[in-house]
Amino acid sequence: MTTLIVVAHPDDEVLGCGGFAAQRARAGERVVSCILSGAVEARQHRPELAQLHLDAGEAQRVLGLAPPLLGPFPNIAFNAVPHLELVRFIEEAIRSSGATRILTHHPADLNNDHRHVSLACQAAARLYQRDPAVAPLERLAFVEILSSTDWAFPGTAAPFAPTSYVELGEEFLALKLRALAAYRGIMRPFPHPRSEEILRGLAAYRGGQAGMRYAEAFQVVFERIGLA
Ligand SMILES: [Zn+2]
Repeated sequence: MTTLIVVAHPDDEVLGCGGFAAQRARAGERVVSCILSGAVEARQHRPELAQLHLDAGEAQRVLGLAPPLLGPFPNIAFNAVPHLELVRFIEEAIRSSGATRILTHHPADLNNDHRHVSLACQAAARLYQRDPAVAPLERLAFVEILSSTDWAFPGTAAPFAPTSYVELGEEFLALKLRALAAYRGIMRPFPHPRSEEILRGLAAYRGGQAGMRYAEAFQVVFERIGLA
């Protein structure tokens, strides 16, 4: 059982589903992050590439995930990359990981890279219907990333609409915050959406929607349930 997290930037995998990923890894499943942007150009307040790779590796280690697959695509410029290149990179990640469960960005995120990754990932997720050697997709879900998903303007696209909640409890919320701290320079002072107060607040709010002690919310858009 492998889950693939397909995101644009280092730290998106933790912000979007770090608690869930750590939980699945703890349960013995394999979880791999595919982070399409390994470059740091146009990324303000961020460290050099070598340090960023170290930070990404440490964040995966904290969560118990496999080493990340890092792509070569340029930050804040995914709109200039041919759609097919993004799709092929993600398809290769699906093949190499053997993943049947995929998490990716919501297509209405304000961040342009997130939108392009979401569209490319939706196309790549259909790989099994084009290649019989690929195991069928079991589940595709969108994640929620503060400072992008919540910054989308109303009326511009169908907004993130959670359908599924995963309880984190104190333990997995703490792991998520520790993994985020492994990325130097991403946390900001309150009330920025990437502050500890707001991340805790979101987890509490999502938990409250589902009667749970802290939760991450997901919008499941595809689920394949076989015969019992
Ligand atoms: Zn991002």
